[in-house]
Amino acid sequence: MYDFVVVGVGPPGARFARRAAEDGYDVLALEKGRVGEPLACSGHVSTDIWEFTGPGAREALFQNEIYGARFHVGGPRSDAYPFYKQEVASNVIDRVGLDRHLADLAREAGADVREGYTVTEVTERWDRVEIVANGPDGVVEFEARMVAGCDGPRSRVRDELGLPQPDEFLHGVLAFSEEDDHQDFVDVHLTPPTFFAWRIPRGEAGVEYGLAAPPGVHVSKHFEDLIDGYEVDVSHRCSGAIPIGPPDRVTSRRAFLIGDAAAQTKPFTGGGILYGMTSADHAAREIDPDRPTTLAAYERAWREDLEREQQLGHLIRRAYSLPEPIQRIGLGALSGEIGVHMDRPTSLLSFDHLKTVLPGR
Ligand SMILES: Cc1cc2nc3c(=O)[nH]c(=O)nc-3n(C[C@H](O)[C@H](O)[C@H](O)COP(=O)(O)OP(=O)(O)OC[C@H]3O[C@@H](n4cnc5c(N)ncnc54)[C@H](O)[C@@H]3O)c2cc1C
Repeated sequence: MYDFVVVGVGPPGARFARRAAEDGYDVLALEKGRVGEPLACSGHVSTDIWEFTGPGAREALFQNEIYGARFHVGGPRSDAYPFYKQEVASNVIDRVGLDRHLADLAREAGADVREGYTVTEVTERWDRVEIVANGPDGVVEFEARMVAGCDGPRSRVRDELGLPQPDEFLHGVLAFSEEDDHQDFVDVHLTPPTFFAWRIPRGEAGVEYGLAAPPGVHVSKHFEDLIDGYEVDVSHRCSGAIPIGPPDRVTSRRAFLIGDAAAQTKPFTGGGILYGMTSADHAAREIDPDRPTTLAAYERAWREDLEREQQLGHLIRRAYSLPEPIQRIGLGALSGEIGVHMDRPTSLLSFDHLKTVLPGR
């Protein structure tokens, strides 16, 4: 009997496995494929990422540093409205490498991390959870006091336990060109309906072009328009779902969701690496596998930390759907230096930001 079985070894799963193992719990983490694969993420993160990594991570994973974003209401040739900070705002990193690094940290802490195990069934009993997985040698069953569903946007654990779905799923696509680009700005295009397209310079790792939009939008066509506009050749196309809007409940009797399974993402960018790992820390701090009542403390803790950020994030996202002339006026009026933390929209009201934007600073 394990204390925790963790399903899915993306950043939140690996982070929770590591923290729980450090606390002395017996942890088994099951990953259906190879950790980090297939890639479906830009790996564009705030510099807070390095608070979650171990020695040597920055040297191994860092690709480029970013000071700001140029917003466009139209395509590549349209006017740019720059928003920037005086210091580095974010980093572009090797996302496959990040997942492997975090999984190694979990292993070093004592978690049993296994690849090639697809969890197919999860059944809660009053005193334990039964987990069935397809492993390299066939079907295997495990038992744990609790199960952590860290299995991404289309979470099997969530479905098996009948937990509610996120409000919405966007469809994200990305691809890479071979240009060497060390610029320190990303480009954001508000052209796809209700979300955006992007260009991210990744230093020597090339340039990434991507786009996300809700179901019903012709994502491939908008993506072709973006690529044509930039006049580049891209390869290594990949895609993934982005959950937006957490369900009312991400815990059940002996199970809890972390990361995309719980839609712990930023509604205005779809980014979820930092929110997922932050929530993993809340889970590790609050949950005692012998006391199912502690699950309520996890629900409270992550929501208290991130709910206001997500609410404000929803408001920011609404601006993506405003009529173009209003977007232009708004971007024109607000562009320039900012003091906002990219993961914390509430920092729009912070002293640092107001000091930066108010006249006479
Ligand atoms: C196009 C795109 C670009 C993005 N760009 C960014 C970005 O720049 N910055 C950012 O912060 N976020 C970004 N995101 C979001 C980010 O990728 C997710 O928030 C993050 O990966 C969430 O981690 P997760 O572990 O919850 O989910 P996932 O990364 O999806 O990991 C879930 C893991 O569970 C495994 N799994 C699934 N089902 C099972 C099963 N039944 N049994 C065992 N294992 C299972 C999967 O193989 C996977 O390894 C992007 C997303 C997309 C789609």
